[in-house]
Amino acid sequence: MFNSMEITVSGGRETHFECLRSHKVLWDDVNGDVNSIFENDEIVLDGDTVEYKAQCHCGNIQETIKVPGGDGNKPLKAYICCCTICRQTYGGFGGFFVVLPKSMKLSSKQGTLEDWDTPGTEEGEENRPFCGTCGARNSVETIRGCAIVDTSLWNADFWKFVGVMFSSSAKDDGLVPWLPKEAPLQALEFYNTHGDVTPEYVPVIGSNGWEERLRAECCCGGVSFTIPRPSQEVREEGNYLERFVAPAHGGRWKAYLDFSRETRLTSTSPFIPWMLVPRVELEPEVPSDLIFQTLQTYQSSEKITRGFCWACGSTVFLKSTDRCPSEANEVLGIAMGTLKAPEGVRAENWVEWRAGKPYGDDEVGLGLGGDPVLTSHITENIKKWSLEKYGDYPEFDIM
Ligand SMILES: [Zn+2]
Ligand SMILES: [Zn+2]
Ligand SMILES: [Zn+2]
Repeated sequence: MFNSMEITVSGGRETHFECLRSHKVLWDDVNGDVNSIFENDEIVLDGDTVEYKAQCHCGNIQETIKVPGGDGNKPLKAYICCCTICRQTYGGFGGFFVVLPKSMKLSSKQGTLEDWDTPGTEEGEENRPFCGTCGARNSVETIRGCAIVDTSLWNADFWKFVGVMFSSSAKDDGLVPWLPKEAPLQALEFYNTHGDVTPEYVPVIGSNGWEERLRAECCCGGVSFTIPRPSQEVREEGNYLERFVAPAHGGRWKAYLDFSRETRLTSTSPFIPWMLVPRVELEPEVPSDLIFQTLQTYQSSEKITRGFCWACGSTVFLKSTDRCPSEANEVLGIAMGTLKAPEGVRAENWVEWRAGKPYGDDEVGLGLGGDPVLTSHITENIKKWSLEKYGDYPEFDIM
């Protein structure tokens, strides 16, 4: 079935650095269009202002900003960058950014951050700092004098998404079918160039020499492992792990969108798509404490431990005690932005989406931060998409 020349064996890393393009290269590539991104610069702070605060989950990153208040209060333009580096570093469908006008200064009070130089740039030219404790990103990157700031750590929204960049590099268009198509966000602009090319991912073969597996890897390649399909043993009735096999497609695993505040403040993404897979099925072996390769952990609540790469900051794992009745039966959430599915970012040959029931969407807005408008559009559109494509929008259990 597979051309043997295209097969890589499970375990070893598979990073395609030559395919990665930094924002410096990509955003310059959209050239004429990119100037419209900086229209936020027309905003002048000359009257009442409202102050907003951002904080990562552990409190290491703290930022404040003053935005025009009163009549002058119009939302700043925000963008979703679906480039390969954004998807892999956030562990989701991309980076969600608001571009600050040059006149608007961000004040930050933060502890030590870890630096990671984006592939394809000189040292220090374009790095993507992240919190060394909880893994949240601090995306303050400057392009043409404007700060590009993550939307996800703020206590309230002061932006509106107006554009999507490089969505075609996701191969299956990733998030696009779930994005707003109606008011007030119907005017999303798409910026695609040929600058961001996703490598042609090929199936990975397990160490037994025949089993088809799916590669998951952080952006720097320090964390790299593979996932099999649900085995006969896993699918046996009465087995605890069987409940994580996709109900309508027995050869796939369950996947869902997590909008919870805890996930947002650790991943710096408005939501993370998680795929649920038994830990013991991963190759090479992932230990129960998740300390392997370049993985670091952060306990974000009594029940939840998160795993991210200490070298590049990519979000990789979610481990909840609710899905770990015993050491042999631990089920991990794997951040789907790390996957290298040949069919595309939604990995539809590997997962069934719980399209009918979002998780944690009640923790968006109402003083909890996040973006209620974007959230409601996505949770509605994934339902419609699933109904149209699969004739149903599943609401299966994920615990
Ligand atoms: Zn932190
Ligand atoms: Zn990007
Ligand atoms: Zn890494």
